Amino acid sequence: MRNVYTTLLLIFAVAILICSYVISKKDKTELTKAICYIMIAAPLTMAAYAAALLATDLMFAQVMYAVYYTVSDILLINMLVYALKYTKVYEMRKWQKIFLLTVVAIDGALLIVNVFTENVFIFNCGKIDDGSGTMFYGIAERGGLYNFHRTIIYAMVVLVVIPLVVKIKRSPAMYRKKFWLTLASLIIIIAANVVYVVTDISIDFSVATYGIMAVAIYYFNVIYVPQGLVEGLLSSSIKNMDDSVICFDVDGNCVYANSVAYAFFKTVEGVPITSYLNEWLTGRKLSETSDTEWKESHEIGTLTMHYSKQFKRLCDADGRCVGCFFKFHDETEDVKRLEIERYRATHDRLTGIYNRDYFYERVNETVRKNPDAEYCMVCSDIKDFKLVNDIFGINKGDEILTAIAKAMMNLSTGKDTIYGRLSGDRFAIFMQRRLFRKEIFLNAIDSLSNLLGSTTYKLHVQVGVYDIVDKDIEPSVMCDRAYMAITTIKSSLTTIIAHYNDDIREATLEEQKVTGEFSEALGAGQFCFYLQPQVSVKEKVLGGEALVRWIHPERGLVPPNDFIPVLERTGFICRLDMYTWELACQKLREWHDKGYTDYHISVNISPKDFYFTDVYKTFTELVERYKIPPKSLRLEITETAIMTDFKKQAVLIQRLREYGFCVEMDDFGSGYSSLNMLKDMSVDTLKVDMEFLRKTENPERTRTILKMIVSLSKQLGMEVITEGVETKEHVDFLTEIGTDVFQGYYFAKPMPVSEFEKRYLADLN
Ligand code: C2E
Ligand code: CA
Ligand code: CA
Repeated sequence: MRNVYTTLLLIFAVAILICSYVISKKDKTELTKAICYIMIAAPLTMAAYAAALLATDLMFAQVMYAVYYTVSDILLINMLVYALKYTKVYEMRKWQKIFLLTVVAIDGALLIVNVFTENVFIFNCGKIDDGSGTMFYGIAERGGLYNFHRTIIYAMVVLVVIPLVVKIKRSPAMYRKKFWLTLASLIIIIAANVVYVVTDISIDFSVATYGIMAVAIYYFNVIYVPQGLVEGLLSSSIKNMDDSVICFDVDGNCVYANSVAYAFFKTVEGVPITSYLNEWLTGRKLSETSDTEWKESHEIGTLTMHYSKQFKRLCDADGRCVGCFFKFHDETEDVKRLEIERYRATHDRLTGIYNRDYFYERVNETVRKNPDAEYCMVCSDIKDFKLVNDIFGINKGDEILTAIAKAMMNLSTGKDTIYGRLSGDRFAIFMQRRLFRKEIFLNAIDSLSNLLGSTTYKLHVQVGVYDIVDKDIEPSVMCDRAYMAITTIKSSLTTIIAHYNDDIREATLEEQKVTGEFSEALGAGQFCFYLQPQVSVKEKVLGGEALVRWIHPERGLVPPNDFIPVLERTGFICRLDMYTWELACQKLREWHDKGYTDYHISVNISPKDFYFTDVYKTFTELVERYKIPPKSLRLEITETAIMTDFKKQAVLIQRLREYGFCVEMDDFGSGYSSLNMLKDMSVDTLKVDMEFLRKTENPERTRTILKMIVSLSKQLGMEVITEGVETKEHVDFLTEIGTDVFQGYYFAKPMPVSEFEKRYLADLN
């Protein structure tokens, strides 16, 4: 009997140990870890007991029993850890853990000491018959302290049972079974132990139940899913789903529909639900259908609801159809969001009409769809719109843009007409060529001109038309061509509409030629500058303005007006300016070395330079590199450059002046808000444009204004240079009103630097 039992016990123990090793490698969750500790302690208990039963030596038997009892304590501690972790009913405090461990440690210590003491206080071994004649060392005598050990054991069993019971009470019904089964495995040990204690059986068979319990705990906690739990969870998931779910059996009876589905069909009895399947099958058999997904919209009252629907056949393991289900997912919100996103991506925020990208996309589509139709691209631009914003405020600006968008809408009648806002104040209409009526556009523009509500300021809208001959070009290029037409009438206040024609085409080709040749020409040193003297009232030459010239190998001397506007449009001007500035600095260095330290050179800065270069850094580095005083380099900045970003430019100009540069405001008087600008920004010199005097119909008034400007500049501490001085009368008048410096053909035209040096710096030669 003993031999059979111990053999089984050992085999079982080894099997559990192997299992626990495999499990601990595979699954590393906290719970499995706690169970693995039980699965290690339980077989160790069993092995220790088997060893004690098999002992042939009294001492060995005593030791093994002591080990057996001690490991039982450890097993129960592991059980407690598991129970608390698993049920989460209670978390032991630190002192409680210490107390428990101390008690167990005392028990363990007593058990070991017991082996060696003569006077037995826990147990004593003696030879006992296993009932079949085999003698083994069993517990022959129990001392007084045995009850201490037993109390600890039972107390811990109670501590393990309590959280499990609480958990069973608190858990939803479908989970209870799981905890019940765990608890039941524990009860089996207790029962087996009780049987051993109350009967005379010499061998404790309840030890084997430790192993059974360890395996049961693992199985019920990790592997086992109570019957009904899956179904319960599945059905409550479907019940609580936001989607409609309807299940039918093979005969087309509705077996299940969740509340969302009932609400969708507005039914409680389910009849419309059943008829839905019949309508869907329309004469087919369920077995002939296949799984599908589709989208459908429903008008519900005033609302349009969007659904993504799914139909699926359900089959058993043998592939036989057992029913089907529908799932309707309400994606109205998603669709709405998408529509809003799409609207935002394709429409202009302010005016609500198409934005540039979408306008181009639609034009492309239309052109491709109708290869034989004749279209035109009509683009509009507001003259000096920036000023409208500056003077009348952003709100007024927005109001005007919205009004223009509305006008576009009214003008856009007829098939295939598309209109949109390209950028800022630029709008475009793409339409059939035969529908374009000049008078209609002129009328519309005329009514727009009064939008500012001011008698002094009129809104100047200009329109460029490109008859689309070349259909393969991008819509953006079509618009560019329409805008090129506008550039030809830009300076006119009376011409409103311009058509892209061969002249513009020529000019474009010319432009392309200039940009194409530019880089090579710059590298080949074909650019140089001329100097035009700047003369004081006492007719003393103070310096000169550097005016660039292109010495073209075929065309000869090309004046700046033939290439600067092109280079400005393309941005190449920055490279040319950088080159010219450097040449000017080299020249100044040369003059300084030869003792001509009083002469200055004025250089031009294009508005584009401010966009693409760090003007401050460039100039400070240049004067430092050539070691020339900054005041001998005068910087001519036009009003346009300042106007584009007034605040930033004001700061930059201030920094340049603080560094020591002399800053001149070029072409003063030719813009709109020259006077306005002086309010918030100071420069060293105003360079008054004489064109401003010449263009006028009322010279007397203009002279008065000029007089005021000069006197105002004096009061503001600024020097005045007048350029374009051509006659003696000019000089006399300008001297009389207080101009400091003159520049103009009356004194000299721009000349090669060598000639300038020959004339004015005679000693240099
Ligand atoms: P700007 O800066 O206003 O230069 C003055 C222009 O007026 C020069 O024309 C000059 O020859 C011309 N001019 C001078 N005195 C008189 C006169 O008494 N009567 C008339 N009718 N014209 C006079 P230019 O040299 O053809 O330069 C034209 C424009 O090209 C310049 O106007 C300037 O805006 C630009 N430019 C010239 N060189 C450069 C440069 O290196 N960089 C940049 N960014 N622009 C330059
Ligand atoms: Ca200039
Ligand atoms: Ca000028």
